[in-house]
Amino acid sequence: MKWQTGRRSGNVEDRRGMRSAGIGVKTGGGLGMVVMVLLALYFGVDPSVFLQSGLQQGPADTGSTQAPPAPGEDPLAEFVAVVLGDTEDTWRTLFQAAGGRYEEPRLVLFSDAVQSACGYAQAAMGPFYCPADRKVYIDLSFYRDLRERHDAPGDFAQAYVIAHEVGHHVQNLLGIADQVQRRRAQVDQEAGNRLQVRMELQADCFAGLWAHHADRSRGILEQGDVEEALNAATAIGDDRLQRRAQGYVVPESFTHGSSAQRVRWFERGFDTGEVEACDTFKAREL
Ligand SMILES: [Zn+2]
Repeated sequence: MKWQTGRRSGNVEDRRGMRSAGIGVKTGGGLGMVVMVLLALYFGVDPSVFLQSGLQQGPADTGSTQAPPAPGEDPLAEFVAVVLGDTEDTWRTLFQAAGGRYEEPRLVLFSDAVQSACGYAQAAMGPFYCPADRKVYIDLSFYRDLRERHDAPGDFAQAYVIAHEVGHHVQNLLGIADQVQRRRAQVDQEAGNRLQVRMELQADCFAGLWAHHADRSRGILEQGDVEEALNAATAIGDDRLQRRAQGYVVPESFTHGSSAQRVRWFERGFDTGEVEACDTFKAREL
């Protein structure tokens, strides 16, 4: 993916290295520090930077304020900012064309664990979107998982993950998320899960739609990029959604639809570039 010259979104909140005041992680001193040092090594930062600031900071639940990285120093975070910026440009144009206004989501980078308006979340749960605060949450170590555990490498696979979560934000703006939630409350679990699958497949379709317009407008795609995204769509069988319950997140896995379905809906968005083509709720066959 050609992203280096892209516009960086100003909507990224960097909470990496911060202690989360969530329930059950009073990591204080030792363990939290080990995690930070490991992360530092992972991101290629000299861990002594963390060790020093950590010692000054003390063991309480205080967030550290890191200086923003110099350009080129933190390529993964920059990449995320560019992809987010591109989804903003794409969806702004699409909303305007339909006579609406696109309200941009924010994206939170975190490490280890994070407190969201939807509850407390751990990195292992994967990236998620919280409708209550309109933020996308992602721990960048998920990308290592994607590459190594799910065998879905490539920068466009990473972009697809963000575009999918932004797709959930679009569903929120369009009122689809609310409608689905109301309907789910009226039906049994099985029917509720079927609705949820349509919700997920629509987010995949919206991700494909973003790729369509981003490539048309800004020529971001390189050879093999779409295959990377489709490979990721195939690999991530289920991610986990946050649920508002007792102040913390209860991880609940559910199907996102079969791999073939995820690929089909991504392609439908990518081929047509039309929001109407992504109406998974009307579709007879998924
Ligand atoms: Zn999703």
